[in-house]
Parts: sequence; C-alpha cells; structure tokens
Amino acid sequence: MRNTKDEFLHKGLRNKLVIQLREKGIKDENVLEAIGKIPRHFFLDSAFDKIAYEDRAFPIDADQTISQPYTVAYQSELLKIKKGDKVLEIGTGSMYQTTILAALGAKVYTIERQQALASKTKSFIFREQFPEVFFFFGDGFLGLPNEAPFDKIIITAAAPNVPEKLWEQLKVRGIMVIPVDESDGVQRMLRLTKKKDGMAKKESFEAFSFVPMLGGKETK
Ligand code: SAH
Repeated sequence: MRNTKDEFLHKGLRNKLVIQLREKGIKDENVLEAIGKIPRHFFLDSAFDKIAYEDRAFPIDADQTISQPYTVAYQSELLKIKKGDKVLEIGTGSMYQTTILAALGAKVYTIERQQALASKTKSFIFREQFPEVFFFFGDGFLGLPNEAPFDKIIITAAAPNVPEKLWEQLKVRGIMVIPVDESDGVQRMLRLTKKKDGMAKKESFEAFSFVPMLGGKETK
C-alpha cells in the first residue's frame, strides 16, 4: 500500500531533509529544489510514511533498496543535468531517482532487471507531469542501443567495472556517474567525461554502498 497524499507533515519533513543535505555538502540548488518538491514517501510502502524523509536507504520489493537521499542528490549533482538532457539510468528501483532527474528537466530512459519492480512502473504516479520518462525491463549492462547516444548515464547499482556497451552509448563530452567496486561492499563514485578521442577524463569522489549490478533479467 502507498500513501499518495502529500500532507503538511511530509512537506515539513522534506524541508528538513533539504537542510540536512545542504549541511552534508550538496550545493546544486536545482537538485535541492527537486528533492524539496518530489514526495519520497510516494515511492515507499506506507509503513515507511513517517520515516521516508530520514536520510537512509529503505527496502523496496525484490530485495532491493531505494537509494539514500544523500546518494540521490550526490549522483544528480555530479551529472550536471541541463534541461532537455537525454539521460540513461541503470537501476530504476523505486523510480525515485528517476523522478528527481525528470524534475531537473531530463528526458529519462531507465532500465530495471527485476520484473517485480519493472511491472510497477506502469503506475508511475508522475506520468502526466513527466511524460518524457521511459521505462524498460532488461539488462542494464546492454544499455539501450536503439535510443543511444545519451548526454548522461547514471548507474544506481554497484558496478564491477565500467560496462563497455554503456560507454559506447555516451556522447562525446557526455558524463557517466557510476559507483565502481573497490573493496568489500564499498564502491568509489566516479565521474567519467567522454573526450573527443573516446577516452575518459576520470574524477573520483566519495565511497558509497549500493546493491550489486547484476547481469540478465530476474522474472520471479
Ligand atoms: N535508483 C533506485 C535505486 C535502486 S537500487 C532508487 O532510487 O530507488 C538498484 C537497482 O538496480 C535495483 O532495483 C536492481 O534490481 C537494479 N539493477 C541491478 N543490476 C541491474 C542491471 N544490470 N540492469 C538494470 N537494473 C539493475
């Protein structure tokens, strides 16, 4: 069950979350505004209604998680979204990060490998507000060759490496934000900018902890 009413209480909690994210170092005002606007509790079971604005990851279906707001803000900031950017997201999960990207003005193509989660995208609550969000059930390691190239690519699961097919689908001067396995359960957030010669300019950021990026599709 979902609570899809946005009440005064939620708005207050969301404002507090924005203040916390600012204190933790998020600077992009557009990102903070999007987090302040999009009700996170819409993407969680109503059991989480009162805690949906804590800066924590929570369980969703198929043993996956909704990313922590700090992580969502951090990856969104690194992507430097411009209105109209064509963005590929790997790991739709709860659709929360997807919606934040859409609120930033991106046209979002998002892939999920868990059928239980992908099937829920049919009832995307922001469908009218954000018509340019496109959901795909499939293996994100393959990307979407028919929709490529993309201005930006975001991976929201722990990648073993930079998937070659995704790199190929990024435009020159495009940006990929990807958490890559570093050591036990910890990933390094990387921002890779594609240079004219196809090589990457690589920047390393904080360590994060994501669920693993896995190959193939899951239909159970
Ligand atoms: N952005 C999501 C994060 C969900 S957790 C949110 O904010 O809710 C990461 C998601 O990546 C999980 O749902 C997992 O099933 C998915 N995932 C992992 N490997 C994948 C792959 N190869 N292709 C597509 N999705 C993948």
